[in-house]
Amino acid sequence: MSTLSERYQWVCEQIDVASANRQHVSLLAVSKTRSSDEVLDLHRLGQVAFGENYIQEAVDKINDLKEHNIEWHFIGPLQSNKSRLAAENFAWVHTVDRLKIAKRLSDQRPAEQPPLNICLQINIDQEDSKSGFLADEVVQVAVEVSRLPNLSLRGLMAIPKADTTEAEQTRSFQKMADLLQTINQTLSQENPDHRPLDTLSMGMSSDMATAIHCGATVVRIGTAIFGPRPVSPRPAETKQDDH
Ligand SMILES: *Cc1c(COP(=O)(O)O)cnc(C)c1O
Repeated sequence: MSTLSERYQWVCEQIDVASANRQHVSLLAVSKTRSSDEVLDLHRLGQVAFGENYIQEAVDKINDLKEHNIEWHFIGPLQSNKSRLAAENFAWVHTVDRLKIAKRLSDQRPAEQPPLNICLQINIDQEDSKSGFLADEVVQVAVEVSRLPNLSLRGLMAIPKADTTEAEQTRSFQKMADLLQTINQTLSQENPDHRPLDTLSMGMSSDMATAIHCGATVVRIGTAIFGPRPVSPRPAETKQDDH
């Protein structure tokens, strides 16, 4: 049995190897289903950014751990009636999948906090079961979202199709990198002062090296750090019902 510290070190090394001489890649530790104590154990090893999928579970941990300098990222499906909790409690939301959610997050972001960093979620393999924008609509959405006052549009996020070949994963990740470039070109035409989007949130335990080779700047890693998750009673990564 490996320890948390050994697994964490192994993941950090994999990221270093895959990203050598390329972009800077940050590690988002995905702590869904993990206890506040487990989060704290990893934080004590030096990890600062943690990703959570379920809003209430996340808010409980955020309250437990508010004495600690942890950066919280929301990476789960976000229903509009939960957007206020996301706007108030997180530094980042990676899973903005509708313009309506972006507007609510901007409206609900407390004035005393810095702008909420967001990524637009892309349904990169056009799967019926996944939420997210389609590639051909997201450029216009990015223009509109970039004008919202209390958000900082940072980039794109995707969860490619599971159980595909490395070649197919590569194609999906490369489409994401191309899309980021297209959006940046469009935004700079709209407003030359707009800060370019710098974030590609893609790659999980099983495909992090492939994602990094294609330009990922944030990898979201759960299992490879914490070990296999207990089976969750809640459905993960399903489409929203309040469209
Ligand atoms: C659970 C989850 C992850 C982490 O997946 P692992 O395979 O455990 O590394 C990453 N991103 C999202 C959106 C997730 O829901």
